[in-house]
Amino acid sequence: MTKQIVFTIALLTTIGVFSYTINRIVSFFRFTRPAFPVKNFGKRFGVMVNVAFGQTKIFRRPITGLFHALVFWGFCVILIGSIEMVIDGLTGTDKVLKILGPVYNILMASGDIFALIVAISIFFFLSRRLFFHIKRFEGIEMNRRSHTDANISLTLILLLMISLMAMNIGYFGYHEAIGTSRNGVYPIARILVTLFPGLSAENFRLIYEISWWSHILLIFFFANYLPYSKHFHVFMSVPNVFLSRLDPLGKLTNMDSITKEVKLMLNPDTAFAAAPADAPVERFGVKDAEDATWKNYFDSLACTQCGRCTSVCPANITGKKLSPRKVMMDLRARMKEKGPLMVKNGRDFNDNRSLLRDFISEEELWACTTCNACAKECPININHPSLIVDMRRYLVMEEASAPGELKSVFNNIENNGAPWQYSAEDRLNWTKDLEISIK
Ligand code: SF4
Ligand code: SF4
Repeated sequence: MTKQIVFTIALLTTIGVFSYTINRIVSFFRFTRPAFPVKNFGKRFGVMVNVAFGQTKIFRRPITGLFHALVFWGFCVILIGSIEMVIDGLTGTDKVLKILGPVYNILMASGDIFALIVAISIFFFLSRRLFFHIKRFEGIEMNRRSHTDANISLTLILLLMISLMAMNIGYFGYHEAIGTSRNGVYPIARILVTLFPGLSAENFRLIYEISWWSHILLIFFFANYLPYSKHFHVFMSVPNVFLSRLDPLGKLTNMDSITKEVKLMLNPDTAFAAAPADAPVERFGVKDAEDATWKNYFDSLACTQCGRCTSVCPANITGKKLSPRKVMMDLRARMKEKGPLMVKNGRDFNDNRSLLRDFISEEELWACTTCNACAKECPININHPSLIVDMRRYLVMEEASAPGELKSVFNNIENNGAPWQYSAEDRLNWTKDLEISIK
């Protein structure tokens, strides 16, 4: 009974802290702008199965992709065992899901095998970060804090797997020692238990109890650490893939406000109602975090900081300042900074800082070729160009700010109806001295 009480208090504390954090993050969404309507559920489900559960995009880098996919699939299987632990902790049962019979054997055996595979994979990831210079993990956005965060998260996962394996060894060893039958199959524990010859049943029982508590408390701690970490993608990546932008890459969205204006100009009798005189002036494009769409913000929360986008970005590769990973990290950081202030003082609160310039410079924005390589490469279907283009739209439409070459193009389009310096009548001047026979 004492175990149940202690467990219930720990669980309620975890849920309380987690709910507070999530509620805080979710409250920032109300400041964001609408994006596309979420429909085509069948297509979305297909994308989620393919990209998120199938891990298809991650396999573009076969070795690290395989390790990552194994970790993801392992998490899915091990999650079932964690749910069982929560039920056992609350109700005082032991291995409650044993009622599943043969299915339970398969689940426990898979969990036992995956615990070892995930531990090896995480050891590989950690060693890579600590001892090798991986270019993808470098960049101005990857400061000491980012590296520490990644190392803490990986260490926590490693400890989770070690405690799970220890739990299985303790459980298996205890039942072996007292000669009773076990619930579930534990192929790895069966091998590892031989490393502890002569250990008494009591000691195995102790190993089981200590590792059971360590494992579940680590899960509780990890769940509350994740929202502050890059590993928040553990929660966010699958829904982010489900909510993917389904338009072809490179398709630019029209701005509703501009479309309305143009239609009104072309046809004043159009069905669009003119905005009331006292309606607040809508900002064109994105200057600050609250101008971004909910999907941009969702993307920024889901970003794993893996750097795959930056590693294929032609602007970054050729030495420009732009890093698409940084764009996502900056949006998340800016919303984290301004979100609480807007909750307190309202959406119009001005802290004299903005996503544009204080976080992302004009130089970075204009370096983008809108090639969409970043969006294509991102393993969780984040779309960077949509945000970059919207920030450029703000610069052009609200500040008339653009690089000199573009400004002359804009002027030419305005004056000549074409990007060139010549008026429409002069366009065929180059044909004057040619002998062209038109039949
Ligand atoms: S945007 Fe995508 S590819 Fe880029 S760092 Fe984030 S998760 Fe990785
Ligand atoms: S769309 Fe822009 S940010 Fe993305 S890869 Fe191309 S140049 Fe880089």
